[in-house]
Amino acid sequence: MLEIDHLGVAVKSLAAAKEFYQALGLAVVGEETVEHEKVKVAMLPVGESRIELLEATSADSPVGRFIAKRGEGLHHVALRVPDLAGTVERLKQRGTRFITDEIKVGAGGHLYVFLHPSATGGVLLELCEDPPQGV
Ligand code: ZN
Repeated sequence: MLEIDHLGVAVKSLAAAKEFYQALGLAVVGEETVEHEKVKVAMLPVGESRIELLEATSADSPVGRFIAKRGEGLHHVALRVPDLAGTVERLKQRGTRFITDEIKVGAGGHLYVFLHPSATGGVLLELCEDPPQGV
């Protein structure tokens, strides 16, 4: 069963964005820097899902380039799938276009890939899976 794991929001200032969402009544449960994506991430649960605030640590990064081109805003939608490797394999067999080919490890140790917006109706779509138990 698929669920919306989180909505990724690109922001110029994590501090300013956190202040707003906390004023709204959300809590920040996790904050970390994902070095290979050059991004600082804060996670704020909303019901069963989460908002993921993203601030680039370098202009030369996916989020930095997104902000330069389009400003702050909704960056991606992340769906949690039960079997990420199997899902990726199945989509590759039908020729679905990915941003990168390999599954990566992101914030909180979860596994993820990004699909190309040309494959998804114009949405940058992340597929993710919870970290393996015991890690
Ligand atoms: Zn994400």
